[in-house]
Amino acid sequence: MLFAHDTEPALIAAAALVNTGGSHGEALPDVAALDAFLATHGWTGRHERTEAELRAVRDLRPRLRRIWYADTDEVVATVNELLRDAGALPQLIRHDDEPYHLHAVPRDAPLPTRMAVEAAMALADLVRGDELSRLRVCDHPDCDNVLVDLSKNRSRRYCDAGCGNRAAVTAYRARRAAARS
Ligand SMILES: [Zn+2]
Ligand SMILES: [Zn+2]
Repeated sequence: MLFAHDTEPALIAAAALVNTGGSHGEALPDVAALDAFLATHGWTGRHERTEAELRAVRDLRPRLRRIWYADTDEVVATVNELLRDAGALPQLIRHDDEPYHLHAVPRDAPLPTRMAVEAAMALADLVRGDELSRLRVCDHPDCDNVLVDLSKNRSRRYCDAGCGNRAAVTAYRARRAAARS
């Protein structure tokens, strides 16, 4: 593991959240979709299941997406802003059989706030470790999914949405076409 046990899942969840609003279409069309997203990424705590909450979660996505395209100083400014806006106060806590980890807002804080702060705390870890280069955008030309490259040799180029396979098929067809001509 490269980072603290709570940093990696938080980064993966942040990328997944960003990707629910990318070029593959709206993946959080309703509250039920948000429920499923939260279950997939192990989110517990306050969840109102309202349209307003859903909207606030969706509105967080472009703010987080910009981080993947930003330089270090811009990332720092955004992270600090997210933490400041939420009145973040880091506390070590234990719940749901997880070992001690950091929460910077209470578990009954609004879901979008908790999502923003959890992403910001994990990104702060990346900044401190000088590891922002692990934030990538999928190499496939038709895809704007963001990803976190947690591979040892920093070799990850494609997102999880099948882009690696699509690129391999395209390259294979191009080689065959070239061999024929
Ligand atoms: Zn927790
Ligand atoms: Zn992709």
